[in-house]
Amino acid sequence: MSSNFPLTHEELVKLTEKFPTPFYIYDEKAIRENMRYFTKAFSIFPEFREYYAVKACPNPYILKILAEEGCGTDCSSLPELMLSKMVGLKGDFVMFTSNETPASEYKYAQAEGDIINLDDITHIDFLKESLGKLPETICFRYNPGQAKHGCNSIIGKPEEAKYGLTREQMIEAYRICKENGVKKFGLHTMVASNELNPDFFVDTAKLVFELVLEVKEKTGVKISFVDLGGGVGIPYREDQKKVDLEYVARKIHELYESLIVPAGLDPMRICFECGRPITGPYGWLVTKAIHEKHIYREYIGTDSCMADLMRPGMYGAYHELTVSGKENAPKDHVYDVVGSLCENCDKFAVQRPLPKIDRGDILIIHDAGAHGRAMGFNYNGKLRAGELLLRENGEVIQIRRRETIDDLFATLDLEVVKNFK
Ligand SMILES: *Cc1c(COP(=O)(O)O)cnc(C)c1O
Repeated sequence: MSSNFPLTHEELVKLTEKFPTPFYIYDEKAIRENMRYFTKAFSIFPEFREYYAVKACPNPYILKILAEEGCGTDCSSLPELMLSKMVGLKGDFVMFTSNETPASEYKYAQAEGDIINLDDITHIDFLKESLGKLPETICFRYNPGQAKHGCNSIIGKPEEAKYGLTREQMIEAYRICKENGVKKFGLHTMVASNELNPDFFVDTAKLVFELVLEVKEKTGVKISFVDLGGGVGIPYREDQKKVDLEYVARKIHELYESLIVPAGLDPMRICFECGRPITGPYGWLVTKAIHEKHIYREYIGTDSCMADLMRPGMYGAYHELTVSGKENAPKDHVYDVVGSLCENCDKFAVQRPLPKIDRGDILIIHDAGAHGRAMGFNYNGKLRAGELLLRENGEVIQIRRRETIDDLFATLDLEVVKNFK
């Protein structure tokens, strides 16, 4: 996806004079258009809703843009719930899909009327103890175990994954909740990450719809919404193809017509909680080549590191990398493009054919708009990059400043340290 960077070389050079590298930049117009495409693809379901996974890009400016486009949020922690509230989202626009959750976080979600998605059957009692009673709406996360094969490596095999309830537990959980006066029910599953095969999502929907029917048959509970999770991949590599969401929607709709409607369960809301395909392709990490090194391999050292973008180091993930102003130059050099961390996995690109890179060149790391800055950390005393937003009118604004040393030391009491003997 190297072609979609929204600034020319001259514009980018000028921008780096105002905002020194490294920084993230997001394209508001592209994010809005993409969100409209996503919604339109699923408009075949009248009550469709996307809950943007906040963890992918926990910046309130981005969340506000998405909320304006009709999105809710999917949250995994208290700060993410708070960010949602900050941008005016609550109630059934907020899905709280957490695990190993403290009582205080359930209390906050309950007070806002957010939808609580439970990760285990024992959490029914935990929730009841935490809140005094069960909420009116409850959702459960289904782990299909061996019933779902062909899952990919980030989440792994469902039967080895820590998430969700077994099929038998799902039935039992709805029964218990119904007896305890819960009025509205949801069913959630998420069994893949960064999956590019559209049929994978169709198969998942089938599995989930069949369970919805089984729940109704065995407990009388009518599921009113189904959350098919996230996991829709993006083409990080140029030879990969975008998931055809219109195809996915049409196929899931066929299943809906053949399974859900005859069972008298229509209308049932279909939801997704995608992060990656919403903002991933429309955010970039911009860094500068500050060193070159010639040993057994050719290295380019950048002013960023995996503390800003850890996917390559952590998963060996591929991110397209372009050299600003050299987009059309021949790729006649092979480099490892590396960061400054004391970890040899800190490489943005490994043995990558690229144009000749000179010190001072601006490097653009693509598809970093989801699970990019959000996964950053401070190991090695690294300060995380800030975030910029390219507005629809062409203006660029800062939506998060970069971290400072004061931020890094903020959890230390330096006066006490001074007097410590
Ligand atoms: C990570 C996650 C998501 C978002 O995944 P993407 O790959 O960014 O779409 C959604 N739901 C849950 C429960 C998650 O853990």
